[in-house]
Amino acid sequence: MGPQIELEGDVLRANVSVFAALGAPVAAVVKHDGYGWGARRLARELDGVVESYVVADEDELAALRPATVKPVRLLGDAQPGRLAAVLGLGGIPNVSTREALAEAAAEAIRRGSFPVRIGVVDAAGWSALRPADVAAFAHAAAGTGLSVELWTHLTSAARSAAALEALVAARAAFEAAGVRVTSIDAASTASARPGVAFDRQRIGVGLFGARLGAPVDNRCALRVTAPVVRRFAPGQIGWAGYGDLPVPGDRSVAVLRSGYGDGFPKKMVDGVDILSVGMQYTTRVMHDGADPRILIGPDDDVDRLAVRAGIGSHELVLGLAPR
Ligand SMILES: *Cc1c(COP(=O)(O)O)cnc(C)c1O
Repeated sequence: MGPQIELEGDVLRANVSVFAALGAPVAAVVKHDGYGWGARRLARELDGVVESYVVADEDELAALRPATVKPVRLLGDAQPGRLAAVLGLGGIPNVSTREALAEAAAEAIRRGSFPVRIGVVDAAGWSALRPADVAAFAHAAAGTGLSVELWTHLTSAARSAAALEALVAARAAFEAAGVRVTSIDAASTASARPGVAFDRQRIGVGLFGARLGAPVDNRCALRVTAPVVRRFAPGQIGWAGYGDLPVPGDRSVAVLRSGYGDGFPKKMVDGVDILSVGMQYTTRVMHDGADPRILIGPDDDVDRLAVRAGIGSHELVLGLAPR
């Protein structure tokens, strides 16, 4: 019998509230099948408290749609020729090229005005305009009948002031061109702040309990509970796991049925609590008053666990997802 690896719905919903308290509703980012936990499953937990959802592409939109009637925003442009399908699924499409803009303009003639998302990000890897290209793009969007949801991604604290300046300048450029800007969003978990909440916040890993520096008091929504398969009394055994770590002579040791094969990172070994992490088994020192079965629980901190494992918080959350 393996570990129980769970997501606490109540904690997920409470985490939405603490981000919303920064000043704008939360769009739950459920890309990569809800960070591995299932986009539809997250939607079932979150649908009553989120403003909308964010996914990567049409496939993710189609997979999520049966679980919600709320708006779903896309991070990437539709594949050429697929815009009508995205709109048909109730997706709010992203537009970052002239070709995508032309397809959206043609669609607007057929069905009337609809919003498209236009990003302004001065970094590779995003389906967005570079700030220098905004004015010309705004000009091209004028007269299409499309309205615009402007967004940016604050990739680093050092450059976030410049990114916000570019966003505000982009709003002015679109409005000067006669294009209606219906909303603005900028924040993800790491950049969430009262000052950048704008009209919504795009929160992904923060829903699971990561903060990444955001001034919120969210909680760990992950639970890993492993069955104890063996116990050793104090002094009964000298070495843990593959024989590399000494067991404190005054302590009991528990062997748990959970390991890196379940997503519990090998590098969680600290020699104080966790003595070894194998593919299926973890050995741990028993501490008075603590339940040895709880490997990750309500008192844990997602970011601290990730640091301890030498990985990012996103990677920790994804790694623990059911496989
Ligand atoms: C993934 C993503 C988010 C959510 O990021 P988290 O760090 O998980 O909150 C927000 N915005 C964009 C553009 C993204 O790609």
